[in-house]
Amino acid sequence: MKTVTAAELWKQALERLRSEVGEEDTELWLRPVQPLSLENGVLTLRVPNKFFSDGIKERYLKRLLSLFREVAGSEIGIDFRIERDLTRVLPPSDPVPVASPQSDFALSDLNPRYTFEGFVIGESNRLARATAESIAKSPGTQYNPYVIYGGVGLGKTHLMHAIGNAIRRQHPKARVLYTTSEQFVNEYIGAVQNNALDAFRAKYRSLDCLLIDDIQFMIGKERSEQEFFHTFNALFDSRKQIVVSSDRSPKEMSPLEQRLVSRLEWGFVADIKPPDLETRIAILRKKAELEGFSVPDDVVLFVASSIKSNVRALEGSLIRLKAFQSMTGAPLSVDDARDILKDTLSLDDASPVRVETIQRVVALKYSVDVKDLKGQQRTASIALPRQVAMYLSCVMTDQSSTDIGRAFGGKDHSTVLHARKKIEKKIEEDPFFLELINRLQADIKAAER
Ligand code: ADP
Ligand code: MG
Repeated sequence: MKTVTAAELWKQALERLRSEVGEEDTELWLRPVQPLSLENGVLTLRVPNKFFSDGIKERYLKRLLSLFREVAGSEIGIDFRIERDLTRVLPPSDPVPVASPQSDFALSDLNPRYTFEGFVIGESNRLARATAESIAKSPGTQYNPYVIYGGVGLGKTHLMHAIGNAIRRQHPKARVLYTTSEQFVNEYIGAVQNNALDAFRAKYRSLDCLLIDDIQFMIGKERSEQEFFHTFNALFDSRKQIVVSSDRSPKEMSPLEQRLVSRLEWGFVADIKPPDLETRIAILRKKAELEGFSVPDDVVLFVASSIKSNVRALEGSLIRLKAFQSMTGAPLSVDDARDILKDTLSLDDASPVRVETIQRVVALKYSVDVKDLKGQQRTASIALPRQVAMYLSCVMTDQSSTDIGRAFGGKDHSTVLHARKKIEKKIEEDPFFLELINRLQADIKAAER
């Protein structure tokens, strides 16, 4: 018998199973599983709820057992541990408010145009959309909470409204609320100021489905964040659906944001990536059809191949083309389109950020020279901007720490990692510093254009 750890055993079995059952099922069923221990021939797996343990047993138990036997070289049993005990990850909940939930408040307006039917499926969004549809069919059961990650303009808000619209259609009385985390924070602050916390809580805790968009805005707003988790806790415990979106992938998040989102991640997570060419074409066709606008195929292809990063930009282009066409009445040519869209096209930013740009923008911000950033001087006025620039190079480019060290005057990769850690810590401790870093990131992206 070989000796393996629980983590190794799970990892190896999962790798093999993945090639057999495919990416989608692996993500759906197996990713939320965490190996806890391997003792006396029994592997203990943590799952978020019974839905997973039942589903896995039904689908993969036999295969898993034989894979474990292969990997470990002996018979291994499985024990599922369901851990949905939120008290372990959440602060203790406030007493349940006594205010009656019938206090009437306006539930959010859902945009009727954001439906599943209007959402084009592609590889980039398949899982996110399929999960959203399951949720709309049976909210509060399987995928709870549900976190959608994805860059700006890729359809997160659309999917959230689609969930809300579909639930309302089937259950007209369902209390569905869509809100942004910015609205949530403002409302919370207002409630505190007006001594209306009970009503605020009664409202949020009486919902059947809470959709909170752009969670990143809540970062660092500590009391709102706590209030959100109390709400979350109350809703989750009464099996109400919670859906949250974030505009950054975990890799791009600040540590504070990671902390917030990691508390939600044991539910279900899906990301939306930028759509591939076929999907972009399909989206353009769909939107044109909805607008009652016929676009020649070569123009569709031109637009879809020029605008890559963002569906909102695709849509905007279509609207401008439509305006042009209704003005001239003539059929559109590719040359027209190129001309009409030239500003948009130059803005489409699929190009990665370069370390030089980061150095330039950071140097400007701190009024130091780029060559100081690359130099050896250790005075605080230079060491801090240097570390900031190194940190941003780590999170905004795909360069390795070795490459980044080289770009900073031949420093060691451990220096880069040290800088990264240090800045992460500072961000965590100081919300103002976080704001500064966020602004720098926006400036750097703008400078790349
Ligand atoms: P996000 O919230 O991720 O920034 P939105 O949901 O606001 O993005 O989407 C931006 C625009 O792009 C919306 O008008 C939305 O309808 C459209 N859109 C995004 N993805 C799709 C898709 N797959 N099919 C159809 N429209 C889409
Ligand atoms: Mg949005």
